Amino acid sequence: MNPLRSLILAAAGNDVIRRAVATAPVSRDVVRRFVAGETTADAVGATRGLVDAGLTVTLDYLGEDTTDEGLAEQTVHAYVELLDALHEHGLADRAEVSVKLSAVGQLLDERLAAENAARICAAAQRCGTTVTLDMEDHTTTDSTLRVLAELRGTYPWVGAVLQSYLHRTVDDCARLAGPGSRVRLCKGAYAEPAEVAYQDTHEVDLSYVRCLNALLAGDGYPMFATHDPRLVPIVGARAEFHGRKPGSFEFQMLYGIRPDEQRRLAGLGHTVRVYVPYGVQWYGYLMRRLAERPANTAFFLRALTSR
Ligand code: FAD
Repeated sequence: MNPLRSLILAAAGNDVIRRAVATAPVSRDVVRRFVAGETTADAVGATRGLVDAGLTVTLDYLGEDTTDEGLAEQTVHAYVELLDALHEHGLADRAEVSVKLSAVGQLLDERLAAENAARICAAAQRCGTTVTLDMEDHTTTDSTLRVLAELRGTYPWVGAVLQSYLHRTVDDCARLAGPGSRVRLCKGAYAEPAEVAYQDTHEVDLSYVRCLNALLAGDGYPMFATHDPRLVPIVGARAEFHGRKPGSFEFQMLYGIRPDEQRRLAGLGHTVRVYVPYGVQWYGYLMRRLAERPANTAFFLRALTSR
C-alpha cells in the first residue's frame, strides 16, 4: 500500500490527531466539500439538490465503531427521523439510506446490530425506500453478510457492499448475484493486510473487473461504486456485453467527487446514485477520502494552515 495512504489511515484511528483536526477552526469548512452538513434538514436539502439534477441518493448518517449502546440507539433514531423526512418531502422514491453495522452496535453484539438494522429497515419499508449495509474492515465481513442474510429474509431488498481488494470477493459476488439481490461493488477503503487483500492497486482494479463480470452475469441489481475513469467505461462495455439495459444496474459516486461525471452519466440515461454523508461524526469518513487521493490531503493541509 502507498505509504501516505497507510499513514493517513493510521491517523484515522489516532485520538490525538482526531481532536486536533476536529477542533481546528477551518476544518468544518473543508469537511463541507465531502459532507452535506450535520442535521436531517441539511441531508434533505442536499438530497433535493441532487434529485433536481436528475440523480438518486443514498444517505449515510456518519458514525462508526460505536461501543456505547446509547449512541447506537441515537443512530437508529437519526435514521428513522431522516426516513420520515425523506417521505414527507416526497424524496423517498429517489433516496435510500446506507447503514454501517458498527454504528448500530456490531462491536458490542451482532444480535443488537441486527435488531437495530431491522428497525431501520422497517422504517424504510414504511416510507417506501431501501437500505444498503455498508461494508467495513475485513474483520466484520462475515458478520455483516450474516446480518444481511437474516434481514433479507424479511426485507429482500436490503443491499450489500463487496470490496474488490479482498481476495474472497469474486466468490462473494457470484454467491450474491441471485435474483432480487442488490450489491454495491467498490474497491474498499480500509487498510487491510496482505493475507486477505490485494496490496497493489492494479490487482485491485483487475479484481474489480472480475467481480463486475460476476455481478453482471447474475440476475441481481449491481451498483458500481467507483470514480475511476478507466473502470466507468469498462462497466458500460461489460453491461452491454451481458445484455444489461440502463436501469438494470447503476453507477454510484461519493458526494463532492467528480460531480460533472455524475451528471454526464445521468444525462446518458444511467441511474446514478450519490452517496451523501451527513452528521457530526465526520472524522473517520474524511480521513478515508483523504487517503484515497494525495491531492485531497494537500487541499486539506493548505486550508488548515491558510488562516
Ligand atoms: P480510485 O482508484 O481510488 O480513484 C480513481 C479516480 O477517482 C482518482 O484518480 C480520482 O480521479 C477519483 N477519486 C477517487 N477518490 C477520490 C477522492 N476521495 N477525491 C477526489 N477524487 C477521487 N468503501 C468501503 O470500504 N465500504 C463501503 O461501504 C463503501 N461504500 C462506498 C459507496 C460509494 C457510493 C462509493 C463511490 C465508494 C464507497 N466506498 C466504500 C469507497 C471505495 O471503496 C473507494 O475507497 C473509493 O470509492 C475510491 O475508489 P475509486 O473506485 O473511486 O478508485
